[in-house]
Amino acid sequence: MGSSRSENPKNRVTPVDLYQITPKTNCGECGFASCLAFATQVVVGQAEIGLCPYLDDEKTEPLKTRLTDQLAKGIGVKREGFQKALDFLREEIKKWDLKKIAPSLGAEVRVIDGVTVLELEYFGKKVIVSESDVSQVPEGDIDPWEKIFIYNYVIGGVVEPSGEWVGMESLPNSVSKIKSLRSHCEEPLAKAFAGKMNALPEVIKKVGGVVVETDVQVDVVADFQILPKLKIRIQWWDEEPDEGFEAKAKFLFDSRVLETLDIESLLFACEQLTDRLLDALNNLRV
Ligand code: SF4
Repeated sequence: MGSSRSENPKNRVTPVDLYQITPKTNCGECGFASCLAFATQVVVGQAEIGLCPYLDDEKTEPLKTRLTDQLAKGIGVKREGFQKALDFLREEIKKWDLKKIAPSLGAEVRVIDGVTVLELEYFGKKVIVSESDVSQVPEGDIDPWEKIFIYNYVIGGVVEPSGEWVGMESLPNSVSKIKSLRSHCEEPLAKAFAGKMNALPEVIKKVGGVVVETDVQVDVVADFQILPKLKIRIQWWDEEPDEGFEAKAKFLFDSRVLETLDIESLLFACEQLTDRLLDALNNLRV
């Protein structure tokens, strides 16, 4: 996705990495409403890791070094990095006729205060995309990475999905991201729901997903509409300790997804979905 994300090292610390070592109690002592919100703000350089009094030093130390390093290098996680990428995309979007591209994006055209904008759904919430900004309606939290992701979707254009679901390993030029998908998304989701498959339907619903029936031998399959023409499917297999099987989760994508969306954007969407699922599971427990 955009220039700044492609600068990220493969081993960058993600909100999920940090979230995994928080107590996940959402106690609020750090000043944030949830452990995930805290983790996200730390990773984007807007909060100090020391604000959570419950983090185990031994676990945070390796992350701290990597975090300091990525922030110091300005690897796209600082506010200035976001700004640079957003400025670039705002210039790019000016080249497009929003009215013409709206139908293919699954977006509606609106005129607000004399300005033509696009209205589309992102994770089930309405967002407005204009030349100057991306905002949620009614007003809500949408972070700069999400704005960059949505701009990339609009600028990339959309091709009709093929209807064929494939793993990331079957997508072209995806080798460098397979490991990230596994460690940032598939493994945390497998671990989080191991032995708790019965919680999945409610969690899936909370995130706006739909459980689907397939003829694949799998415990739970769900589809998530990220953007009007971008759907992600996740399959879960529960652990079977007696048989020596660990729980597994696998992300699937339309085989044509990379014809318009770049692989960084796709990975970003998977990370966002993972964050939301883990957060919803955690909220069920609290
Ligand atoms: S990160 Fe720590 S302080 Fe913040 S809500 Fe979670 S447990 Fe509480």
